[in-house]
Amino acid sequence: MTSILVRYHEIALKKGNRPYFVELLKRNLVSAVKDLGFKEIRSLPGRLLMLFGEQADEEKIGRRIERVFGVANFSFVERTSLDLEALKSGILEALDGRRFSSFRIDAKRGDKGFPLTSPEINREIGAAVKETTGARVDLKNAECTISIEILPRDAFFGFDKIAGPGGLPVGASGRAVSLISGGIDSPVASYRMMQRGCRLIFVHFHSAPYLDKSSQEKVRELVKLLTRHQFASRLYLVPFGEIQRQIVAAVMRPLRVVLYRRMMMRIAEAIAKKEKASALVTGESLAQVASQTLENLAVIEKAATLSILRPLVGMDKQEIIDQARRIGTFETSCIPDQDCCQLFVPRHPATKARLADVEEAESRLDLAGLIQLGVEKAEVEEFRFPD
Ligand code: ATP
Ligand code: MG
Repeated sequence: MTSILVRYHEIALKKGNRPYFVELLKRNLVSAVKDLGFKEIRSLPGRLLMLFGEQADEEKIGRRIERVFGVANFSFVERTSLDLEALKSGILEALDGRRFSSFRIDAKRGDKGFPLTSPEINREIGAAVKETTGARVDLKNAECTISIEILPRDAFFGFDKIAGPGGLPVGASGRAVSLISGGIDSPVASYRMMQRGCRLIFVHFHSAPYLDKSSQEKVRELVKLLTRHQFASRLYLVPFGEIQRQIVAAVMRPLRVVLYRRMMMRIAEAIAKKEKASALVTGESLAQVASQTLENLAVIEKAATLSILRPLVGMDKQEIIDQARRIGTFETSCIPDQDCCQLFVPRHPATKARLADVEEAESRLDLAGLIQLGVEKAEVEEFRFPD
């Protein structure tokens, strides 16, 4: 029988929000493992206990829980009856074959009816472990920490703590629309916002039929990977080629990229309104490319009224790549594709677009009509994890 003790950081829990936070974390944990023999989840003070059926695949369960935002760390634990001797012999038996020179016991008594206090449990079990293993007690830097939980119906113990991703449970901070391109940056930006508790709706702009569908395939794969953290995602695929064609017809070359970006913001904002999302997310990073100078970022964001979150703005490309590798999106992002930003773009885009010039250029466009075109022609796809 597999049982897991999940710990979360309490610092992040402002008093009033705490029950909501814990409820979301529980719901997300259950979503993550519901197909892996999951039976029950119980709230304990500051932590959660998850119970699974007999033949649960611990490795698989561990990999799923490692991705649930809000989890500080977790341990696989064993259940014994509510009895000190049973606990002692259970622990000694489980320790058989483990080698360590120092240890500490970390007992928590959720059931105050248990005859011994936590320090007393620590002392009793500690003495037995010391005698059997010869290891010394070290409260600061123990090689092995033995966690004990005394609950009303049974007791649990476990050894190693596996690190979780930290952050806040997805949903705790509201909803945002993430502009996802198929490049390296936007999936990392999306990950970072989900880690801060945002539930994301994805929007991708493509230039089919002017270009092929490769960027859409990549984005589907990336959204699939990111859905492992929020369990359900919606992706809007917006045909952008016709909109680009109209921009190109009306606007001088150097300003096109900034105009494309401003149209993306407007369409994403219209989708955000529909989805009741309260911010936009991009993978922009200061000065990484011509469209991301301070001047251009300022002109681009004026096209939207919602706040634009740029979690990568101060990150180096190498840092972003390192994180993309860790979260598993890098390889997909590196597959060559035809990105809409390659369509009709000048060799030397403006690096310091002026708002007055941009607005003058846009006055020749039917902005409302183009936004409507984008929103109406968007195809919507749903993703679920686990499938
Ligand atoms: P990325 O690696 O995310 O593509 P990038 O370094 O290539 O970023 P840009 O192409 O300038 O930078 O794009 C900046 C941001 O604009 C992207 O991170 C993304 O949020 C958004 N964006 C760009 N192209 C698209 C697109 N085709 N669909 C949706 N969003 C896009
Ligand atoms: Mg890009």
